[in-house]
Amino acid sequence: MITKKIRLIFALITLVALSFLVRNLYISYSFNNNPISKEDKKEIIREEQRVLKNMQKNLGFEYKVPIIITDKIPGKIYGFTSLDDDGNIKIYLNKKIMRESMDYILSNVIAHEYAHALLFKSGDYKIDKDGHSLLWQNTCVKLGGKKCQKYVDSHDVIMGKLPF
Ligand SMILES: [Zn+2]
Repeated sequence: MITKKIRLIFALITLVALSFLVRNLYISYSFNNNPISKEDKKEIIREEQRVLKNMQKNLGFEYKVPIIITDKIPGKIYGFTSLDDDGNIKIYLNKKIMRESMDYILSNVIAHEYAHALLFKSGDYKIDKDGHSLLWQNTCVKLGGKKCQKYVDSHDVIMGKLPF
């Protein structure tokens, strides 16, 4: 009688654990296989609009850069800005860390990368290999970025071929 009860309890525990596992698997599966949610997309567009508005206000022009959300970025970086051999400028955001870092991406990363994009556009990126020159900092501030100090361990400007 007791063993039957224990067996039942074990079966229940296993069932509960399994259902959690399945649920977690499902969440990470659906996140990795679907585009980001409408809500997240809206938030990114809203922040981009804010940056573009600041650009118009503080720099006198508006220059829109394609923002590409991808899960192919290796490692934990939030995103980067690229300039290819044909002179195309694009901003890439890391989808893999979006779930945990969406707030940070919205409040810091988009203005940060847009500042890189503008320096690529004007050709002023050449004065500083790493990309975070004083001019970049000023541009970032003018775009309404909140964290525009030099990023010590971030290599988020890519010239030429992408690593993926
Ligand atoms: Zn940067």
